[in-house]
Amino acid sequence: NINTKEDVLKAIENNNVKFIRLQFTDIQGVVKDVEIPVTQIEKALSVGISFDGSSIEGFVRINESDMVLKPDTSSFAILPWNQKKGVVARMICDIYLPDGTPFEGDPRYTLKKVMKEAKEMGFSLNVGPELEFFLFERHDGKATTIPHDFGRYFEFAPADLAEDIRRDIVLTLMDLGFEIEASHHEVAFGQHEIDFKYGDALTTADNVTTFKYVTRTIAKLNGLHATFMPKPIFGENGSGMHVNLSLSKNGENIFYDADGDMQISDEARYFIGGLLKHVKAITAISNPLINSYKRLVPGYEAPVYIAWSGANRSSLIRIPAARGKGTRVELRSPDPSCNPYITFAAVLAAGLDGIRNKIDPGDNREENIFELTDKGLRDFGIETLPSTLNDSAKYLADDELLKEALGAHVHNSVLSLAKAEWDSYRIQVHDWEIERYLNTV
Ligand code: GLN
Ligand code: MG
Ligand code: MG
Ligand code: MG
Repeated sequence: NINTKEDVLKAIENNNVKFIRLQFTDIQGVVKDVEIPVTQIEKALSVGISFDGSSIEGFVRINESDMVLKPDTSSFAILPWNQKKGVVARMICDIYLPDGTPFEGDPRYTLKKVMKEAKEMGFSLNVGPELEFFLFERHDGKATTIPHDFGRYFEFAPADLAEDIRRDIVLTLMDLGFEIEASHHEVAFGQHEIDFKYGDALTTADNVTTFKYVTRTIAKLNGLHATFMPKPIFGENGSGMHVNLSLSKNGENIFYDADGDMQISDEARYFIGGLLKHVKAITAISNPLINSYKRLVPGYEAPVYIAWSGANRSSLIRIPAARGKGTRVELRSPDPSCNPYITFAAVLAAGLDGIRNKIDPGDNREENIFELTDKGLRDFGIETLPSTLNDSAKYLADDELLKEALGAHVHNSVLSLAKAEWDSYRIQVHDWEIERYLNTV
């Protein structure tokens, strides 16, 4: 266990580390890094390493671009691949301005800020994500959308050609300190899921980030392309990142109540109420790509309707069967293209709003919601998630609670990225339009 500066220096020496990769993420959750030779480590750990933030997506204007990376010592880990030119370790960093104040556009700071708010209420958020991804063939080194295998859900060898590669990914993650709970083939050809143990929101957001580059790296070393694109193939399931959420107080899971209806507590209900109230705005964060909305359609096990339920998987929010310590709320809309720091921050802020204001989530729905008619949906008052990024961004723009919780900087950056993404997309002429109109109109 590495925590202090001394622990880091000792680990560097014991493992003969030659390079350190200092990492952080931009607003989109894309990992950025600066590599320093180990000779610079003292400086990095004492004053930090300066960099120019102006070229980082969603960061700053050119006239205020000097920033400082300060490594979080507890994130020290040795990268177990490509050690030919010396051992490489990584540390995840917080971002500061030259005057020593935290940079408000740093997604990690945003999450810490909302976690602090939770702590003032006595709560700490635990998150367990379920990341899905595709493995595609590479031809001449270039990524294709040809699935690497033709396995289906929980498929076993020989149809599941990827078992060795998946195990390779799992072993590498374990080397990096992950506690892996399960891995399996997913529903679509070439699609997989690996689940790791839940943790506090910050550790889990760091882990999601690490998970993605480990998966891409190991796939690449095996001649394949791993992608977290939400919907790479029309007509097949997309990739989600369900998040399992619970709040603890003094080490106890407060979502569990042995005497409560469904054995869940009032806090759990209000938390769900808060999620339901803000979910349209959260969607702009948890589903940030044009492509994200191609996943959120009926028929592919992805949520569309805004409702909550017990075990029912057609719902946006469900309560998996486990109770006691394992009692949790599963939000099924996020996809793995999101920035996990900002997503968890938004989800936590919404849940806390629910608890503070005792927001009633309404009745749980146990029927298959996908089979309800429009009238049925109307009768039950079931609304739908925004169907485009343009729509979800409008909800986010109007959500004062999230604006306050995320801070104006991050709120603005997310919105301007969404606008740029939408504007770039809407002026394109797509193949679908050519096929549909060229010969008939
Ligand atoms: N792939 C589905 C989604 O998009 C989930 C499938 C599952 O895990 N049962 O959310
Ligand atoms: Mg799962
Ligand atoms: Mg799954
Ligand atoms: Mg799930």
